[in-house]
Amino acid sequence: MRSSVTIVGASLAGLRAAETLRRDGFDGTISLIGDEPHVPYDRPPLSKQFLSGDWEADRLALSPPERITGLDLDLRLGQRATGLDVCSHTIEVEGTAEGYDGLLIATGARCRTIRGTEGIDGVYTLRNLDDGLAIRAALRDSPRRVVVVGAGFIGAEVAATAVGYGVPVTMVEALPAPLGRVLGDTVGSVVAELHVDHGVDLRCGVGVEEICGTDSVESVRLSDGAVVETDLVVVGIGVVPNTEWLEDSGLTIDNGVLCDETCLAAPDVTAAGDVARWPNPRYGELMRVEHWDNAVEQGAHAARRLMQSSEEARPFSPVPWFWSDQYDRKVQLAGRARPDDEVRLVDGSFQERRFAVIYGRGGRLTAVFGMNRPRQVMQFKGLLESGASWNEALDFAEVQT
Ligand SMILES: Cc1cc2nc3c(=O)[nH]c(=O)nc-3n(C[C@H](O)[C@H](O)[C@H](O)COP(=O)(O)OP(=O)(O)OC[C@H]3O[C@@H](n4cnc5c(N)ncnc54)[C@H](O)[C@@H]3O)c2cc1C
Repeated sequence: MRSSVTIVGASLAGLRAAETLRRDGFDGTISLIGDEPHVPYDRPPLSKQFLSGDWEADRLALSPPERITGLDLDLRLGQRATGLDVCSHTIEVEGTAEGYDGLLIATGARCRTIRGTEGIDGVYTLRNLDDGLAIRAALRDSPRRVVVVGAGFIGAEVAATAVGYGVPVTMVEALPAPLGRVLGDTVGSVVAELHVDHGVDLRCGVGVEEICGTDSVESVRLSDGAVVETDLVVVGIGVVPNTEWLEDSGLTIDNGVLCDETCLAAPDVTAAGDVARWPNPRYGELMRVEHWDNAVEQGAHAARRLMQSSEEARPFSPVPWFWSDQYDRKVQLAGRARPDDEVRLVDGSFQERRFAVIYGRGGRLTAVFGMNRPRQVMQFKGLLESGASWNEALDFAEVQT
C-alpha cells in the first residue's frame, strides 16, 4: 500500500487524478505540483467565453475552492519540477531533490512558436490564462487587423471570437482547408465557408514566410508573396509535450512520455493527459491525445494504475472525443478520422451547416463528425466503442433517417 503520491502538473489531468485517488479512498499524502501560479483552471474557455469577454477568470476554476480544500492536498503552485530519476525514485522541484512513492506525470503541452518572433510585441500563442488575458487586452485595444496563423481547432476558435469584436480577421492555413489534416477536404470546406461567411479573410494553401516588425508586429509575409498588415498575430500551429524536465530520467521520451497500454511509464510512474503517449489497444497504435475528455479519463486511469498490481491493471482504450465552438456552431469529433477515409453524410445538410458525417476505412467505422448534431455524434460514438463495421454504421444511419 502506498503512503504518498506525487502528481506533477496541476491542471486537468493532475487534478482529476487527485480527485480519483480521494474518491477511491486513498488517505495518504497527495502532492500536486504545478508551475503556474493559478489554482487549477479550465483551458477550453480561454479561446471561447473568456476571450470574448463573456466570462471572467473566476469562472474558469476546475473545481470550487472548497472542493479543492476538501481533497486535503499538499498543493504547491508556482513550483516547477526540474528533474527526475526513476532509479532512485527522486524528483527535483525547483532544484531541490525529494523522494516519491508513486508519481503521476501530467505536465501537458505548450504551444509551438514561429522562430524569430520572440520579443516582437503583438505576437501571441494561446495556452494559458496569462496568454488569454494578453490576447483579450489586445483585442479590446481595437487592433487594425488580427492575423491567425493556423486553422486548426484553436486557431479557428480564436478567429471566430475575434470576429465578435468587429475586428478584421485574416486566417492563414498551409493546408487546402481548415482542420483538413483531421477532417479531409469535404468537411474542411464546410468549415471554410462558415468562416468566410462571417467575414474572415481565409487564405488556405499558403504558409507564413515571415512575421515582420522590429519592436511590434507590423505585417505577415505569406508564401504566395502577399503581405498582410497587422498589429495582432495569434499563432495556433500545434503543441509540443512538456518533457524537457524528464531528460535523463530513465523514462522513454518520444513525442511525449511513452507508457505501456495501462499508462505505466516505469515502475511506480504513470502519465496522463496531453503529455502521455501510449499504445491504445483499440487502435493498435501509439497515440498522444490533446483533448479535454482524454485528460479527464486518463488522469483517473493513471491514478488508479498507481494503486494496482500488474495483474489488476487494465489497458486504457478510449475512443478519443473532442468538441469545439465556432460562432453559433458546436462541432464534435469522435474517433480517429484520416483525410483519405471514406466519408458519408448521415444526417442534415452541408448547406445548412447542421450535419453529421461518418468516416470509414478498411470496412470499419473510424470516426464521426457533427456540426450542431450532438445527439448523432454520441450515437455513432457508441458504435465506435462497440467496434462497429462500416456497413453496420450505414445500416444504423438508414434506420435513423
Ligand atoms: C485555448 C484552448 C482551448 C481548448 N479547447 C478545447 C476544446 O474545446 N475541447 C477539447 O476537447 N479540448 C480543448 N482544449 C484542450 C484541453 O484543454 C487539453 O487537452 C487539456 O488542458 C490537457 O490537460 P493536461 O492536464 O493534460 O495538460 P495541461 O492543461 O497542459 O496542464 C499541464 C500543467 O502542467 C504544468 N507544467 C508543465 N511542466 C511542468 C513542470 N515541469 N513542473 C510543474 N508543472 C508543469 C503546466 O504549466 C500546466 O499547468 C483546449 C486547449 C486550449 C489551450
